Amino acid sequence: MGYNTGDKQLIKEINKASIFQVVHDLGPISRADIAKILRLTSATVSSNMAELIDDGIVCEVGTGVSSGGRKPVLMIISDAGICYLGVDIHKDGVETAAVTLTGRVLATAERPFQRENGDFEHDVLACIRAVRNEVRDREIRGIGIGMHGIVDTTKSISVFAPAMSLRNFDLKTFIEREEHLPVFVDNDANAMALGENWFGQAKQIKNYVFLNVGRGIGAGIVLNGEVFRGSGFAAGEIGHIRVADNGVKCVCGKYGCLDTVATEYTVIRDTINAIHTGVESEAARLVQGNVAEINIQTIIDAAAAGDACVLDILKKTGRYIGVAVSYIINILNPDMVILGGSMSRLGEYMTDAISEAAYSLSMKECSDGVRIVLSDLRERAGVIGAATLGMRNLFPRA
Ligand SMILES: [Zn+2]
Repeated sequence: MGYNTGDKQLIKEINKASIFQVVHDLGPISRADIAKILRLTSATVSSNMAELIDDGIVCEVGTGVSSGGRKPVLMIISDAGICYLGVDIHKDGVETAAVTLTGRVLATAERPFQRENGDFEHDVLACIRAVRNEVRDREIRGIGIGMHGIVDTTKSISVFAPAMSLRNFDLKTFIEREEHLPVFVDNDANAMALGENWFGQAKQIKNYVFLNVGRGIGAGIVLNGEVFRGSGFAAGEIGHIRVADNGVKCVCGKYGCLDTVATEYTVIRDTINAIHTGVESEAARLVQGNVAEINIQTIIDAAAAGDACVLDILKKTGRYIGVAVSYIINILNPDMVILGGSMSRLGEYMTDAISEAAYSLSMKECSDGVRIVLSDLRERAGVIGAATLGMRNLFPRA
């Protein structure tokens, strides 16, 4: 008898997960259409739907066109119910957000690591609590963490996070003990790639690569709908492909890596260097000549003002990224390459150069039909992607 009950509960959870998926992918949609797609009886759909509504997961949204009788009530994913926290831990700090099941960001917090005052994990906790405070009226179901570096997703352990000199840190246990919520951990670029599948450019797309371009550069690779992690969880370290001959030394110990020429830091560094050699730039004017104060916002403002110096540097950066994308295209022949992360705020100034290099350097048979696009989630891809790690576990047994 025990087995029978267990089976029934499992089937119920599987049905609820399937109904949720259909509403997520195709909503607004009627109960009758869901029943048809899933080949379930209308009674099964109705009873599960009632629970999903009670649970703050789906809701009704008006009526559709009648095919004879009563107008059907349409269902969508609820924006007003439960939410998840997304935590993006990058090289210099942490960003957190409360995200609804529709991908809407309700509140955010940001904190640079106060390395001199101690451990990074306390900054992470402070940032999580700041957001929890903002959304006290919402039920939070879990916390997803997109972590810089290499993450063993079977154990939720940060295997290696070079920026924090961290090895084998059990982030899941630490945060769960402090916050009393289930925690899900993955590499940051992998989390972003999954977020793009739930809420962005890669809906219904099976083979794609997400490029996280920001303070570093990494890739989340999705093949046949699943994240490809490699045998040691280190797949997608695209930042360490050599793209520059006679290049500078990288944190990995090699020379000329993409990470040394195509990040926020390198764009700022190259702009400052150009100004030092006498090149005129709006960036220098924006900081009243204090070039050490040039930051990524200065670069964004200078690019928007059409500054030739900054635009040239962004074009050169785009070409380097394009070289790496050409390797991705030749090896994986994906449907799509998505450019996201904090540097995607400058994406419009780099995409032409990226595409030009990527298509001209890859084999035509591999690049035919490959779309290179900017993330819809842009600089919020990190926190939204991280929240998606939690949402994927909404029905843990299904
Ligand atoms: Zn490197």
